Amino acid sequence: MNRVDLHTHTTASDGLHRPADNVRMAKEAGLAGIAVTDHDTVAGFAEAAEAGAKLGVEVVPGVEISTSYEGREIHVLGYFIDCSDPALLRRLVSQRRVRDARNEGIIARLNELGVALTLEEVVQEAGREPGRDETIGRPHIAAALVRRGVVATAQEAFDRYLAEGKPAYVAPPDRISPFEAFAWIHEAGGAAIVAHPGLYGDDRLPPLLLAGGADGLEAYHSDHAPEQEARYRELAERSGKLVTGGSDFHGARKGKVYHGPIGNRSVGAEVLQRLRERARR
Ligand code: AMP
Ligand code: FE
Ligand code: FE
Ligand code: ZN
Repeated sequence: MNRVDLHTHTTASDGLHRPADNVRMAKEAGLAGIAVTDHDTVAGFAEAAEAGAKLGVEVVPGVEISTSYEGREIHVLGYFIDCSDPALLRRLVSQRRVRDARNEGIIARLNELGVALTLEEVVQEAGREPGRDETIGRPHIAAALVRRGVVATAQEAFDRYLAEGKPAYVAPPDRISPFEAFAWIHEAGGAAIVAHPGLYGDDRLPPLLLAGGADGLEAYHSDHAPEQEARYRELAERSGKLVTGGSDFHGARKGKVYHGPIGNRSVGAEVLQRLRERARR
């Protein structure tokens, strides 16, 4: 078996497992390689690469950049980026500042609703030190609400407060466009792929994003139906673009695996070579 899972999260963003643990799980799942694609950070790559060298698992440097297009949140995956590129690192800091401001907005809403949660509690829940280059998001706020006893489960935190349309929801603020994210990734020497195109609820977007500079589509994803996977694969191939896939593993909490276990979706290892070729252009 020569498969790679090109979409996983670690404790550097909202994943529950350390980068080295993801690599170990990839090894156990019989994968040849794994990409670390944390939200708006590359802080998990070094640890994963070290584990990969020990275990004989190829670790692809990656990132998942949050962008917005016509009010919709679009995620853009970057592969084989240079994780020490100063411009990329500076740009990811600006992305995390946008996140931090939103998190503060969510906490302010919660406070208005009579829930006395503090940013410090959320930071502690996420296991962060201020100034570290890892991201904090709603899952950490949900976990802090569970710890406080406000809700019984993280899902209840989303259902009552944090999900879109709920009282503590704050829309993602002005984000960069997906096209800017493609450029950031290309300038950092990487290949840019549209993450989980099936989750945007608008099938005009994938062709538009491909035409706008994306190198391919993540056709295979834990939340895609087989029919969607076939359709996105065809679209990417017809456009002369790359087809990627991954589990979007975020970890398991109380027996529930978010999106899917490592290896739940994978592509042949030959895709790595194609991504590298795109990245070098
Ligand atoms: P953020 O990046 O802060 O907007 O958080 C996004 C993450 O929150 C997603 O990756 C999911 O893990 C989680 N999430 C978003 N919406 C829901 C929901 N309705 N129920 C449970 N988890 C959710
Ligand atoms: Fe996430
Ligand atoms: Fe995503
Ligand atoms: Zn993801």
